Amino acid sequence: MADLANLPSPLVELHDERLERRGVHLRLKRDDLIGPDLPGNKWRKLRYNLEAARQQGFTRLLTFGGAYSNHIRATAAAGHHLGFETVGVIRGEEHHPLNDSLAHARAHGMTLTYLDRATYRRKAEPDVIAELTREFGPCYVLPEGGSNGLAVRGTAELAGEITTGFDIICCATGTGGTLAGIAAGLRGPQRALGFAVLKGGRFLDDEVRRLQLEALGTVTTNWDVDADFHFGGYAKRRPALDSFIEDFGDRHGITLDWVYEAKMLYGLFERAEAGCFRPGTRVVAVLS
Ligand SMILES: *Cc1c(COP(=O)(O)O)cnc(C)c1O
Repeated sequence: MADLANLPSPLVELHDERLERRGVHLRLKRDDLIGPDLPGNKWRKLRYNLEAARQQGFTRLLTFGGAYSNHIRATAAAGHHLGFETVGVIRGEEHHPLNDSLAHARAHGMTLTYLDRATYRRKAEPDVIAELTREFGPCYVLPEGGSNGLAVRGTAELAGEITTGFDIICCATGTGGTLAGIAAGLRGPQRALGFAVLKGGRFLDDEVRRLQLEALGTVTTNWDVDADFHFGGYAKRRPALDSFIEDFGDRHGITLDWVYEAKMLYGLFERAEAGCFRPGTRVVAVLS
């Protein structure tokens, strides 16, 4: 299958006095730079799924997401470039005009359809899937956020691209697929730390275990979820987060995505300030 992404993604050092005075050394894994249409972790999660879809003879992908879902947008782009029809099943009501994410998905040929919140909650159940398949024809169904066993196999390749030593790798965590894979790809005493971007993130412990079990048949113990930096919930923001993003842009010339990356880095900087990392710790933070 054609590669839509320039992998491996770059690894760059970030000098920030707030970390350096705590003895923390940070590098950014710039998965956000691997392709114009595709956040890196979304491509990694799709890759083996699209291969499986093709092998199983499907010409159409169907998946689920909220109105701001990067996964919806990425599936539309990947389908467009690789010759799959795509159907995006969106939570809640249709709003006009479409927001940027959905407009972008539509521009890549995705058919959008909407489920009320109660039905959306039951989206993985056979009767809901059967109804969607009746309407749109046979589809390779990807779960919300694209996280399943094959997605975990894809994200597991990320750590292997990093050839310099590190102790901890951090990522933003929504469904847990990225964290599950990254942890699976680590070596020796390295650990993965996921910052939950939604409220009540403790459920992610179970999700990461379930996904690892599906992908690997086993669960690793080299990861943690930090659930304290959700800023009120998924796609919610607060003035403190906005100032962090603005200040980070001024210092480093990087505009952080506020749904995911800014929450992770805010959490990482807070934990460093609180002395949670022993001096000398080498951290990699994944931007997707
Ligand atoms: C989807 C996404 C994540 C979270 O990935 P999960 O596998 O759902 O935990 C993190 N960062 C960005 C930019 C994303 O688009």
